[in-house]
Amino acid sequence: MKDVLVVGAGPTGLLLAGDLAEAGVSVTVLERRGGEESSISRAFGVHARTLEELDARGLADELLTMGVAKVADLRLFERMHIDLSRLPSRFPYLLITPQYNVERVLLKRAVDAGATIVYDAQVTALRQDAGGVTADVRGPDGAVTTHRAAYLVGADGIGSTVRKELGLPFPGKSVLRSIMLADVRLTEEPAQTLTVNGVGDGFAFIAPFGDGWYRVFAWDRRHQVADDAPLTLEEVAEVARRALGTDLGMRDPRWMSRFHSDERQAPRYRVGRVFLVGDAAHCHSPAGGQGMNTGLQDAANLGWKLAAVFRGAPETLLDSYDAERRPVGREVIASSGAIIRLAMIKSRLGRALRGWIGGLVLRIPAVARKAAGQITGVGIAYRRPPGAGKTVGTRASDVLMADGTRLYEALRGGRFVLLGEASVDGWADRVSVVAPAAATATLTLVRPDGYIAWTTGEADPIRRTAALHAALTQWCGPVSR
Ligand SMILES: Cc1cc2nc3c(=O)[nH]c(=O)nc-3n(C[C@H](O)[C@H](O)[C@H](O)COP(=O)(O)OP(=O)(O)OC[C@H]3O[C@@H](n4cnc5c(N)ncnc54)[C@H](O)[C@@H]3O)c2cc1C
Repeated sequence: MKDVLVVGAGPTGLLLAGDLAEAGVSVTVLERRGGEESSISRAFGVHARTLEELDARGLADELLTMGVAKVADLRLFERMHIDLSRLPSRFPYLLITPQYNVERVLLKRAVDAGATIVYDAQVTALRQDAGGVTADVRGPDGAVTTHRAAYLVGADGIGSTVRKELGLPFPGKSVLRSIMLADVRLTEEPAQTLTVNGVGDGFAFIAPFGDGWYRVFAWDRRHQVADDAPLTLEEVAEVARRALGTDLGMRDPRWMSRFHSDERQAPRYRVGRVFLVGDAAHCHSPAGGQGMNTGLQDAANLGWKLAAVFRGAPETLLDSYDAERRPVGREVIASSGAIIRLAMIKSRLGRALRGWIGGLVLRIPAVARKAAGQITGVGIAYRRPPGAGKTVGTRASDVLMADGTRLYEALRGGRFVLLGEASVDGWADRVSVVAPAAATATLTLVRPDGYIAWTTGEADPIRRTAALHAALTQWCGPVSR
């Protein structure tokens, strides 16, 4: 029996599998697709918080080399911009790179760390009992086999079989129907990396793949049809001309499709030994480019907790996954929904007000900071337990260490990091102790996903050590023998 089964080798499942395998947890990913790489990318943007999470795994620099561009001025509409250049992050921008590049980096890391990936393996049913979870898996020849593990994670996307097998609803609604997608070449180079505008009865968005191909999204209020209705390039180009003033000479479509965008969220992310992550747990409009990013951060939140439980941390730690990530999913649905509704404003007056008011509001520094923190994930913080230090639950900044390294380098390998001077004898296999360059009397325990677990400013050495040992036991599990 494996420790964990992950259903789905999308970005979310691959990050999780890599984290578990690196932590020494035995993990199998079951993926219904064949092993071929997809050239149909969905996401284009990797936000700052995701880059920080990848940095904590030694993967960000590699992904940066695969990037098409770094966008620091996120343009929503004519006058509405979100300035990312002042983000308190090593990555003050949105990295433009197709989703398949992210998946390539994550797949390699998961396989190198020892995760087993089984392709042509479609999960059709599952059952759980006190000792584990059993999944029925249909292979390429139609034969059904069973796989069993202590825990199972559904990373199987928006139509999640795992979610359905748990009997969970996926309440919400369709917000945008009949969005047209086309991968094209352009005769004219766009003036900006991302081109976007909405004009009442339509909007268009163009993003580069980086190899001469561009992805166009277009929506036409006047022509709402079923997802399988035929689509011509002229239909896409006509909406682009209306929304952007030009179709930039789009030509040679290699792929075109229609889709609809839903806002939905599962009411629970955990049922017994089964968890939901990524699109299986939540979905929303692609506006703001937060879907893949939110899924990757779900995985980063759950992976170390599962690993900690295998090392003896209390099972209740796993409940904090739902408690921390479901509110984030709710917030992302609200914020991406607000952007898409602004894009769809019909009246000329409404659109003018959108530009003026939105533009002015985003010039207020506190609002600008909040918007940038929300959309990039850098502003996400988890609930602080009563009595805990003020920074508990917040994201740890990538501070410099006395030895010239950075905190996010110390987090690599899925380790906890204790900032300050103290002994972690008994936990040294899970916890690194590092001294920040700026001396401080505070001890800070940082979780492997880069959030602050615990702090103390206690000066009395006996009480300080007792508090540290209690925190290490709570978060990392018992002393290792
Ligand atoms: C047009 C479009 C544009 C987007 N743009 C952005 C963007 O710019 N930024 C952003 O962050 N997000 C964006 N997204 C969203 C992003 O693509 C998704 O949020 C992301 O792919 C979710 O990743 P995931 O791993 O959770 O699920 P998926 O990528 O859907 O992966 C699920 C995997 O599970 C497999 N699977 C499904 N069922 C089974 C089964 N029963 N058994 C075994 N395997 C199964 C599937 O084959 C698939 O490989 C966009 C989405 C769309 C549609």
